[in-house]
Amino acid sequence: MTRKEFVKVLGLLGIYSPLNHVFGKGNRPEPSRFSGNVLIIGAGAAGLTSGFLLKQRGIEFRILEATSQYGGRMSVNRSFADFPIALGAEWLSSNTIRFEPLADSKKVLSEIQTVGYLPDEEYEIWDRGKLIRGSFQSFNDRKFVNSSWLEVFERYVLSSIKESIVYETPIHSIDFSGDKIVVKSPAGEYTADRVIVTAPLSLLQNGSIRFTPSLPEKKTEVMNETLVWDGFKAFFEFEKKFYPSFVDYLIQPETDGQVSLYDAAWGQKSTKNVLGLFSVGRPATRYGDLADEVFKEEILKEFDDIFAGQASRYYLKHMTQHWSKEPFAQGAYVSDYTERGVFKYLRAPVEDKLFFAGDAYTDGYDWGNVHNAIQSAAHSVNQILLNN
Ligand SMILES: Cc1cc2nc3c(=O)[nH]c(=O)nc-3n(C[C@H](O)[C@H](O)[C@H](O)COP(=O)(O)OP(=O)(O)OC[C@H]3O[C@@H](n4cnc5c(N)ncnc54)[C@H](O)[C@@H]3O)c2cc1C
Repeated sequence: MTRKEFVKVLGLLGIYSPLNHVFGKGNRPEPSRFSGNVLIIGAGAAGLTSGFLLKQRGIEFRILEATSQYGGRMSVNRSFADFPIALGAEWLSSNTIRFEPLADSKKVLSEIQTVGYLPDEEYEIWDRGKLIRGSFQSFNDRKFVNSSWLEVFERYVLSSIKESIVYETPIHSIDFSGDKIVVKSPAGEYTADRVIVTAPLSLLQNGSIRFTPSLPEKKTEVMNETLVWDGFKAFFEFEKKFYPSFVDYLIQPETDGQVSLYDAAWGQKSTKNVLGLFSVGRPATRYGDLADEVFKEEILKEFDDIFAGQASRYYLKHMTQHWSKEPFAQGAYVSDYTERGVFKYLRAPVEDKLFFAGDAYTDGYDWGNVHNAIQSAAHSVNQILLNN
């Protein structure tokens, strides 16, 4: 059973809530025995969550972010359409929505609207030249209405930690051989008692951050063998809507990745017709490696095949986002077909000094989405607080 099927089954049984086992109902943080300072590498979902939880416990911390922005793979374009376009994380990957430990779920849901697909939603499969009607029955993901994952963090997390984020500080080495951990970037040097690394796995695979001493052999071996999928998204504005809510391409072998076309304006308060293209794995690299003009020509031909010539007729504009070209992401997320067992090595702390949090450093129950980036951050912070 693949991860997707596993999550789907749990969703159908109504028992899947990604944060339940970390911050279950009524769970209170244990008293902390830790009194040092913490450096967090990266200001994406995991880094921001880590900072937020440390702040609540009165622990000294700083978030060192390579770029000039927070959010990482939750980034949003606010100018292409009349609703925010999610360039990375877009759906709430759960049928049971919980925003703890960031905020009270009821409060968030009273302030930020979300919407779920109906079982009889227009859903088609593009199978070697034919559009086939499919069933949306078990698709539990929801969408934000004119909002985004990034806005959740902006509303409920950032105000308490924004002064602690240091931008344009790409970390290239972490020396944990001494009593204090020394973290270096061209922008400066920092020391800490604990470090939480939230840089995406691809950056650790290609040695962008050098560790002294080296990370344990087994961890390094598993890190290097784990497949991180490329990611590519594109958005097209058309004069007229001629596409269903969702079209999944049939990809063979399925382990190669995924291509989905979707009505990006679905559920939004919008006057625009925006079609989204989501792709991960090999197809993402194929699309992303094309020069923009060539991509536009080829993709409109592809859409014309699917939608009987209507794409080129009604095309207005498009934009693209290729995640392997982002220097501090270098990919989308760990392949859906990864063996669950590898995650215990990916997230294992080293010498109780280095902790790993983010969508690749999870409990193996799920990975590759914001929910479990949050959850893994909560786990790392708990470990630091409990193991002094
Ligand atoms: C195309 C695509 C679609 C997706 N769709 C969804 C979806 O619908 N729903 C969903 O829940 N999830 C989705 N995801 C996954 C989701 O975006 C991620 O799981 C989540 O945002 C990961 O958060 P993170 O904090 O682990 O990593 P990131 O968001 O990558 O944050 C890491 C941060 O570390 C910084 N950094 C990296 N290297 C360094 C360094 N050396 N020094 C300092 N800082 C560094 C980066 O700049 C970044 O800000 C999607 C991802 C992609 C790419």
